[in-house]
Amino acid sequence: MPTPITPRRIAIIGTGPTGIYTLSHLLGMGQPLAVTLLERGPQAGIGMPYSSEAASRAMLANIASIEIPPVVVPYLDWLRARSDAELGRYGLGRGDLDDRLFTPRLLLGEYYRDQLLILVRDAQAAGHVITIREGTEVQDIAPTPAGLMLATDAGVVGPFDRAVLATGHQFPDADEATRSYFPSPWSGLIEARVPACRVGVMGTSLSAIDAAMAVATQHGRFRRDGDDLVFDRDPQAEALRIVLMSRTGILPEADFYCPIPYQPLAVATGPALAACLSAPAPLDAAFDLIRAEIMQADPAFALRVGLGGLDADSFADSYFAARAEADPFRWARRNLAEVERNRADRVTVAWRYALLRLHEAVEEIVAELSDDDRARFDAGLKKVFVDNYAAVPPESIRRLLALRDAGILSLLTLGEDYDLTREGPDTVIDHPEGRDRFAVFIDARGQKALTSEDLPFPSLRGALLDQDQEIPEVAQDYSLLNAGDFTGRLCLAAIPYLMHDRPFVQGITACADIAQAIAGGMATGRRRRLVS
Ligand SMILES: Cc1cc2nc3c(=O)[nH]c(=O)nc-3n(C[C@H](O)[C@H](O)[C@H](O)COP(=O)(O)OP(=O)(O)OC[C@H]3O[C@@H](n4cnc5c(N)ncnc54)[C@H](O)[C@@H]3O)c2cc1C
Repeated sequence: MPTPITPRRIAIIGTGPTGIYTLSHLLGMGQPLAVTLLERGPQAGIGMPYSSEAASRAMLANIASIEIPPVVVPYLDWLRARSDAELGRYGLGRGDLDDRLFTPRLLLGEYYRDQLLILVRDAQAAGHVITIREGTEVQDIAPTPAGLMLATDAGVVGPFDRAVLATGHQFPDADEATRSYFPSPWSGLIEARVPACRVGVMGTSLSAIDAAMAVATQHGRFRRDGDDLVFDRDPQAEALRIVLMSRTGILPEADFYCPIPYQPLAVATGPALAACLSAPAPLDAAFDLIRAEIMQADPAFALRVGLGGLDADSFADSYFAARAEADPFRWARRNLAEVERNRADRVTVAWRYALLRLHEAVEEIVAELSDDDRARFDAGLKKVFVDNYAAVPPESIRRLLALRDAGILSLLTLGEDYDLTREGPDTVIDHPEGRDRFAVFIDARGQKALTSEDLPFPSLRGALLDQDQEIPEVAQDYSLLNAGDFTGRLCLAAIPYLMHDRPFVQGITACADIAQAIAGGMATGRRRRLVS
């Protein structure tokens, strides 16, 4: 009689997209599994950005349905299977559904939860043991000879052969929030009642736009007027003013049409960029490839920004120059019109598409740059890539313009030298142009890269700091390296801790890639350094 194979005991901590894709890839390994999914929220399978604590119905995901890696069924198929009433709740009609659609984040959360439940049901039917523990916060992880033990607010869970830390975003504590100061848009803003006053929002990205929307929609509503979107302010909300601010005072551009999956790069290929690491000046060698790629893709753009005479340090200034000089709202209106025209005609702007593909290829070598090159990269090229890939849904730009037209929204350029102070309930910003005071202030600058010190798991934090691992080192399968008894047993897939080596790691496609690498490592046992 064959000996029964003992299933591998795996814990997945956190059930956002990373946790879900990890489960999905693990189930594809063809080995018997005993997986426990632990989720501190009341419902597994939603993820922080897609939950009602972080999003209202109006807040859009900045990923088109075609880009979302399917869990069980593709997102668009899932959307098509919804009833008219379900779609209507999110302001969608059946005719809106296409592969380039940006949907509300809450709807995407519903998709992920639904997919997780199907995945678990099918896995159980296939003989795997899958346990979901909702409302269970993991507070520590301890390596023991029997396996990894998890201390949770509902008692100790374990042992496990392996654990995957897929805990996602970590923002300043909601406890720091007051009724007039929000350290992030996710520290109670969604439920807070914000009076019609002068509201400051630090940041101009999609998160900042969302914060502005969370406030504005308490004091009026958006309405279609032919092709236009207008904002009708409530009569008693005359005093509402929202000021978005950033160092540059530049607004993001609207997401643009391009072929997906990405076409291969012609010059700055993975191997060509990797070879730059052995050059005497790696960042400059990489920039030569980036420049050649853009010149080949879009000679007219290259001429316009004078690309031939630029280097890795000066490209960003030339890239942003015209936008920095223009009126930001006029620029946004023009950009929106161009994007909508191109979307209707299925036209791709070649330089935008080149930059979009380049950011992923270049990210592969960033961790291996010297400190000096890395500082140069962060000060220049990184800003260009972020601007390009963090383009926002066109509808978000339309809403900004509607708030502008309603006399509610303005933009403040802070420059490099500004001071933020709290004076009683007010927040005061001193900047080169003067002093601005806000009765309500929302810091919407997004996720910061975190270090081992910030890990909310004392034993793990201690083990990493004992090994002088200020930034946790991970292998290609995201398992920890040089982490004492955690080495090889715990995979670190929590975004803020990966951002040092992978500055563009945020996003659903990155979650799916990480999950695949983790499952691949567990299947083969191969654990090379992330960048070798
Ligand atoms: C506001 C916002 C909007 C975004 N919008 C988009 C977008 O439109 N498109 C896109 O591609 N990307 C977007 N992102 C990027 C985001 O990183 C990914 O989409 C994705 O959410 C990351 O998935 P995750 O599973 O790693 O983390 P999360 O989605 O954050 O999920 C982590 C889960 O772990 C749970 N958890 C945390 N700690 C514990 C613990 N100690 N014990 C148990 N459970 C725990 C959390 O409750 C949560 O459910 C957005 C990010 C933010 C912050």
